[in-house]
Amino acid sequence: MELQSILLPGMVPGRPLVIAGPCSAETEEQVMETARQLHGFGIRIFRAGIWKPRTKPGSFEGVGKEGLLWLKRVKEKLGMYVATEVANTRHVHDALAAGVDILWIGARTTANPFAVQEIADALEGTDIPVLIKNPVNPDLDLWIGALERIYNAGVRKIAAIHRGFSSYDEKIYRNLPFWHIPIELRRLMPEVPILCDPSHIGGKRELVGPISQQAMDLNFDGLIVETHPNPDKAWSDTKQQVTPEMLNSILNALVIRDTHQTTESLTALRRQIDECDNHLLELLARRMRISEEIGQYKKEHNMAILQEQRYDEIIQNRIAQAEQMGMKGDFIKTVLMAIHEESVRHQMEIMNKL
Ligand code: PEP
Ligand code: MN
Repeated sequence: MELQSILLPGMVPGRPLVIAGPCSAETEEQVMETARQLHGFGIRIFRAGIWKPRTKPGSFEGVGKEGLLWLKRVKEKLGMYVATEVANTRHVHDALAAGVDILWIGARTTANPFAVQEIADALEGTDIPVLIKNPVNPDLDLWIGALERIYNAGVRKIAAIHRGFSSYDEKIYRNLPFWHIPIELRRLMPEVPILCDPSHIGGKRELVGPISQQAMDLNFDGLIVETHPNPDKAWSDTKQQVTPEMLNSILNALVIRDTHQTTESLTALRRQIDECDNHLLELLARRMRISEEIGQYKKEHNMAILQEQRYDEIIQNRIAQAEQMGMKGDFIKTVLMAIHEESVRHQMEIMNKL
């Protein structure tokens, strides 16, 4: 993809791009008050949901088109850029007509290629920046597919938003971060900026700071944070919104590490990691060869591939050994099971060879 920068005038390269504002636009006063406070803290991009995708009917589904007039006022009065979520053609047309500066595609919409294509078609011929949230399910291809659909419509200011992945079990996070997914997106599409949405990942205001820091440590390009002057009275996502003042403290406390400067000692350490990986690969290849010899032996002696007792022993002993070496038992179990599965596959091939 050949993208243009989504950095808007006034934004500083090397500093995280920050988008903030309420989950939902509720009233004109709430929108203006939030924007005014955020502006006072130096925030330049204001977000507010006008059309809200809600889990159950009967919840507050957004103020609709009327809210676009309030966003217009934020632009006129404070000179901020404004962003809102679009989920269909009508939303795109209305938002463009109202002069919205940035659009985002929500997680539920990204999960539906028909809906993303509809939005892409409506965007054809425009050059408005579009931010694409990850789909609710942890499917990187689906996320990439949505980025491609918007790109193919001619949009060149594109960024991704990592907002976590829904799970049945909401113990710590509202949406599990699965950081490896945005990291893999970065590897596959290094040109696409990635913002983090700590509000929807954490689901609780105490987690907004720590998750934002994690995102900075992983070189994310910015943050989109739900902010409300009176979070406990918000009409949606009450628990995860922070006040503009809290947001300001969170941002001031962020440590932005210099990732471009690779010190010599880091290079040396990386070389050691490369070496370790080489050893690991060589050892794994050797283990596979031995396992194949065992397969051959089993075939000649008419033995079953899976010797359950032996497998159980291996797992138990190795876990104990790994724990003594300071590693987590669960981690080693996952690794060993993957290796064992591949060994069994090799042995099956040998058995089935004539
Ligand atoms: C939102 O940003 O308010 C929102 C609805 O987010 P998501 O699509 O990530 O659930
Ligand atoms: Mn929300």
